[in-house]
Amino acid sequence: MENQPRSTVDRNRRVILFPLPFQGHINPMLQLANILYSQGFSITILHTNFNAPNTCNYPHFTFKAILDNDPHDERYSNLPSQGFGAFSRIFVFNQYGADALREELKQMLVLGKDEPPVSCLITDGIWYFTQSVADSFNLPRLVLRTSSLFCFLVYASIPIFDNRGYYKLDSTHLEDQVAEFPVLKVKDILKLGIRSKNDAGGELMGNMVKQTKASAGIIWNSFKELEGLEFERVSHDFQVPSFVLPFPKHFTSSSSSLLEHDRTFFPWLDQQPPNSVLYVSFGSAGQVEEKDFLEIAHGLVDSKQSFLWVVRPDFVKGSSTWLETLPDDQFLGEKGRIVKWVPQQEVLAHKAIGAFLTHSGWNSTLESVCEGVAMICSPFWGDQPLNARCMSDVWKVGVCLENGWQREEITSAITRVMVDEGGEGIQERARVLKQKLDVSLIKGGSSFKSLESLVDYISSFHVNKN
Ligand code: UDP
Repeated sequence: MENQPRSTVDRNRRVILFPLPFQGHINPMLQLANILYSQGFSITILHTNFNAPNTCNYPHFTFKAILDNDPHDERYSNLPSQGFGAFSRIFVFNQYGADALREELKQMLVLGKDEPPVSCLITDGIWYFTQSVADSFNLPRLVLRTSSLFCFLVYASIPIFDNRGYYKLDSTHLEDQVAEFPVLKVKDILKLGIRSKNDAGGELMGNMVKQTKASAGIIWNSFKELEGLEFERVSHDFQVPSFVLPFPKHFTSSSSSLLEHDRTFFPWLDQQPPNSVLYVSFGSAGQVEEKDFLEIAHGLVDSKQSFLWVVRPDFVKGSSTWLETLPDDQFLGEKGRIVKWVPQQEVLAHKAIGAFLTHSGWNSTLESVCEGVAMICSPFWGDQPLNARCMSDVWKVGVCLENGWQREEITSAITRVMVDEGGEGIQERARVLKQKLDVSLIKGGSSFKSLESLVDYISSFHVNKN
């Protein structure tokens, strides 16, 4: 699958990429960097010291640390680095980052310290502060959106949700349909974690949308057969060139993992019958209370299906020792394996995997679609409820857990997808969706053409020599 970097091409243009420092954002940005490198561009990655990428895995790239280089800089040094609090860095970096970026770009563009010359800057959409800095150098900035097109349209509608009073509805309306996005329920948009267009999250998303609109282009990790209507709408509403391609089909995300992969379970997985194992993972940031952890554990064991469950050491809130909350060592029995972190795409591609119990992060969702694996969706917050709704209610390649983590509901969803006859329909649709994706990558297909257009577009920029 991996496009091996072409080492012999004449790399006469450089692209600078700047990921947001969280796993679900670093992965797609580094995948995109590999894709562009394979198309002949030189690559520079700007990054923070917080969650810095593993540079050893990318000897073909140049890396530069910016923003939090001074350990005594109190703007950054006192910020939490674990759990949900770590996301506060997004606000602080956006507030103070412009000077550091300007200085770095000055070195690269004005003083011409980097060869070959720079064509453009590609930053995560959430780094909205980068647009005005890029403008001041006449440097085109492209945005990488690391979630779906559908999700972007929903975020862009936060002022509408606010004006129409969705955020003030009481709990009797949670199951109501959202008129602007009929596939969504009110509870889905409340889980975005935003309660007003003017609260911190609302402003962040407002700025993200505004500066994406001001950018030279948007790159989406998706494919048109999945989000054709959303592509039309984004192109119409935003008037910015869009490029849609499924990154996991070009490069896996394993080399940008911030945690070490466990591979010791593969011999066990190799021995399992085809489509018999449930893969369970809730992503890089989600945390549960101890009671929820136990509900999930019971739901998995009660399903009587084999499972491989990723439990990060910080997955259970307040727990100091990994797995201390399990009833006893024998609880999982013969059928269950728990691991700290895995090369997820490799697991999803394994013939033994029959379904994925997922928190519905966009990378996990797309990786599952890429491998034709049906999903049981159990979202926490942010874009996850939107992805879950699309997978279960639009594409019908999965089912949603509607009531959080309750063992009976978990067991019954697993049975429905992996055991019951009806589950075969879900599995079949997941296979068909994967086939559509595969076809889109063949010469002349939508994803193939989108990559060609992206490369042509970046190559068309006047090389910035200032
Ligand atoms: N991932 C991984 N190993 C694991 C679990 C997850 O490498 O054991 C990767 C997964 O392949 C995906 C990323 O972590 O690329 C998670 O991103 P996602 O958008 O799904 O969720 P987030 O972590 O941002 O909530």
